[in-house]
Amino acid sequence: MSLVSAVFMIISYYYIYHFFKQLITDSEKVDFTEAASKIVIYLVAGIITYFGAVFLTHVLAFRLETNLKKEGIRHIMNSSFSFFDKNESGRVRKIIDDNTVLTHMSVAHLIPDLSTAVFIPVLGIGLSFYVDWRLGLLFTVTLITGLFITKKMAGEMSFLESYLKASEKMNGGAVEYVRGIPVLKIFKANIEALREFYKSVTDYSKLAFQYSMSCRGWYVLFQVFFNAIYLAALFFGYMEDGNTGEFLSKFMFYAAFNGVILISFMKIMYVGMYVFQANNCIGKIEAIFDEMAAEKLSSGNVTEMKGGSIEFKNVTFGYEESLVIENLSFRLEEGRQYALVGASGSGKSTIAKLISGFYKLNGGEIIIGGHSLEEYTEEAIAKNIANVFQDAKLFKTTIYENVKIGNPEASKEQVMEALRLAQCDEIIEKFDTREETVIGAKGVHLSGGEMQRVTIARAILKNAGIVIMDEASAAADPENEYELQMALSNLMKGRTVIMIAHRLSSIRNVDEILVVDGGKIIERGSHSELIGKDSVYRTLQQEYSKANEWRVG
Ligand code: ADP
Ligand code: MG
Repeated sequence: MSLVSAVFMIISYYYIYHFFKQLITDSEKVDFTEAASKIVIYLVAGIITYFGAVFLTHVLAFRLETNLKKEGIRHIMNSSFSFFDKNESGRVRKIIDDNTVLTHMSVAHLIPDLSTAVFIPVLGIGLSFYVDWRLGLLFTVTLITGLFITKKMAGEMSFLESYLKASEKMNGGAVEYVRGIPVLKIFKANIEALREFYKSVTDYSKLAFQYSMSCRGWYVLFQVFFNAIYLAALFFGYMEDGNTGEFLSKFMFYAAFNGVILISFMKIMYVGMYVFQANNCIGKIEAIFDEMAAEKLSSGNVTEMKGGSIEFKNVTFGYEESLVIENLSFRLEEGRQYALVGASGSGKSTIAKLISGFYKLNGGEIIIGGHSLEEYTEEAIAKNIANVFQDAKLFKTTIYENVKIGNPEASKEQVMEALRLAQCDEIIEKFDTREETVIGAKGVHLSGGEMQRVTIARAILKNAGIVIMDEASAAADPENEYELQMALSNLMKGRTVIMIAHRLSSIRNVDEILVVDGGKIIERGSHSELIGKDSVYRTLQQEYSKANEWRVG
């Protein structure tokens, strides 16, 4: 369609030329209505077809953008936790969001602009050869010179690359800077305290200045070259010496068409930028997709998890090169409650995360309910294992919806029952809108312990056979502690439970305690068994009581 549009445009330029020529040489014969309508019809046809082309490429661009985003989400859903350990979610969102939007720009404008930018000068030169071969020659020279100057002005692509990098670095630093303003204020520090950011700003400005300066000469030349149409008058005067009519009509054609070529050059420059940008964006999107795909968890097709016994068989795992867990083997029985204790960094959370299937193992197997974890579908794992972590993750939606995430098929009664079991009734009663209260809305404030109870309601609603709690009560404020414990004990009822708790007092009643040290299980037994002998557990308990008795002053 843009090619068709270019043809229409050229025809209308031909009629403009034709009209002037007649007007000057044989003004009696000119039919103004006919001439004007021809010019206008082709011009309008050209505009409409160009509009059509741009419309279509926009449809294409929006679809591309949407599909890329969908693909991004699909990759995010499939990638393992190790990907998110290495990449902040904010960065991932930014890469996918920003770059998909930029591909939109390129696709929507690149295709029609490129076609018109190329076709119009080419067809136009053909036309000018038809009008007068010397005119054609003049335009050819203009075109080649223009291209040469444009190329010089655009500079090296490697420059554009370092320019984009510098601006990205500066933007990233700016976000960091804004986030850190409270700290800077407290210490009365200024921007120079953030050396890296400061440097990125000066680097960027240096680069931008250098670039502007390098374009200066060429840009002036470009402007002079395309605006010096009066010089062309000399040329035509020489060519058509004495023939006023021919001189004027050709000069008019030249003056009108010269502007069109100038616009084409501008477009070519933009197109060059778009192409570069598009390649850059697609490169980044592909890189992050590849990275996500490399971290993809393998999953099988077993859809039902029957039974909640958990067995580690020679499990080896490390987040990076160094291993956190080596050849770990142990078994947990269905329906019993276990606690993992050990020093900070001993690997308790890692074990919990491995049971939930968040990471790919380096070796060995985790068998749950008779199947290796990798044989289950992702849905089966998600449905049968519930997690409660230290930091309650709630979405900015109603309390009701936040709980319902645990089981989207649950009825209203089931959701309300889960809320009740998680001791949330009292939270709901605080608000007029009750369970329809939007978390995070104005005037809605939940304490850490209250938020945790809402996430416990979510886990209760999930009704999973296995429950994993990692420091779940750490966020409790003293006045909520009792409710939180009640909520947790309702969650634990009748399930296989793996609990990690800082407060050793809260794990005394579990069926079995596993002491973790350096990624190994060094002791296991009930509280009374372990405390009764010279065990690491006993030392931990003693240290814990000592810490509890410690008072300021
Ligand atoms: P615990 O929960 O017992 O305090 P973790 O299982 O969190 O211990 O950590 C065990 C080890 O693994 C530690 O040395 C810790 O530094 C390391 N580790 C934990 N999480 C990560 C991660 N996301 N990336 C890299 N190393 C990690
Ligand atoms: Mg931990």
